Amino acid sequence: MTQKPYVSTALPTPEIDELLSRHTLPEGAIAGWFDYPSLVPILGRISKEQFKKNITDFEKILAPFFGLKSFFGSLNKMDFSVGCSKGCHTCLAKAPPPARMFSTESLIRGFRNPQILQMLDPYHLRIGNTAEPTDQSDFLEVIKFILIQTEFLDEQAKKQEKRHRVNVYTNYRPNSEEILESLIELARDNDRFELNISLPVNKTDSVNESFALFAAAHEDTFFYNELQAYMGYQTKIKNLYVFNVREGNSIFPIGRRLSPEILESKKKLGGVLPINRVEDYELRGMVDLLVNPDALWMMVYSTAHHSSTLRSYTPLNLENTQVLTLLPWIKFYFFDTFPPNWPGGQGERRDGELAQQMKVSDCNPFQKVDIVY
Ligand code: SF4
Repeated sequence: MTQKPYVSTALPTPEIDELLSRHTLPEGAIAGWFDYPSLVPILGRISKEQFKKNITDFEKILAPFFGLKSFFGSLNKMDFSVGCSKGCHTCLAKAPPPARMFSTESLIRGFRNPQILQMLDPYHLRIGNTAEPTDQSDFLEVIKFILIQTEFLDEQAKKQEKRHRVNVYTNYRPNSEEILESLIELARDNDRFELNISLPVNKTDSVNESFALFAAAHEDTFFYNELQAYMGYQTKIKNLYVFNVREGNSIFPIGRRLSPEILESKKKLGGVLPINRVEDYELRGMVDLLVNPDALWMMVYSTAHHSSTLRSYTPLNLENTQVLTLLPWIKFYFFDTFPPNWPGGQGERRDGELAQQMKVSDCNPFQKVDIVY
């Protein structure tokens, strides 16, 4: 198979252009802008055996940033692998098939390393952002180990009447029910382990139908109230959630390909169908971090004009870090924390009117966005 030349797949936002116009970076300091965090083009499926052999060292990826104060308390998102095995017809992350993973040994070693522990966000760590955590061969062992190694953060958080939580996002499939049962048990046993079970947006409902059977067979855990259909599946474990993009009023149509039936069903449930959401302009240009087996990534919140995943990623290195960390940290409604030494501080969510003005005046040359209804 011929190796295709690698091309950037996302665009930097105007905030990045503006920042770079004020600072000079050596040529090549920015490797590119990508809508999926992968440095090597992924051309197709490889065998499970080969995937397990394509291992990366977790500690080595983060080593260049050890001791840099900007990164203290910054890391709240990680993926154990590059690529995802689930193959949803509409992938919110635009994930290719699985290609590389962190070795178990390096993850265990890494979560023992005080330099890495110092980089962790004091309140939460999300595992499963652009990849499926259960693809890593020893994910359960690793997650349990991470829970042990982050107990000190929970102790610190409790002193402020908060908690440190480890969130895992996994996508349900009928052939992974055994794995799911183990994760549900972990959620039952450990209240700071939060499990989010996602259901796919597929062309057919077969996976969702299988989940309905799984939920019915686990009445002690799940329930579905027809009168509260907008809430989708609910659970009897407070740290267990079912995240059903297909039903309910969670809406992710921007840059995605959703069928007319699905969009219609969302309308019936009272959801709005935003095209070029104003909300994306409220957050545009703000950043946070993601580590995966390819790099420590700067993740910039974008609009559909800049990236079909609404994220523009670039790998961080010692040359570009000093400039790129001047971008403001994202301000969510729920996670109001940011790394204490982050040079760009925390961004202020723009008010709706300003965001609307930005949307109208957005003169990006790639302005045309095809959204399929
Ligand atoms: S599980 Fe998530 S990352 Fe994987 S293909 Fe589905 S939507 Fe994409």
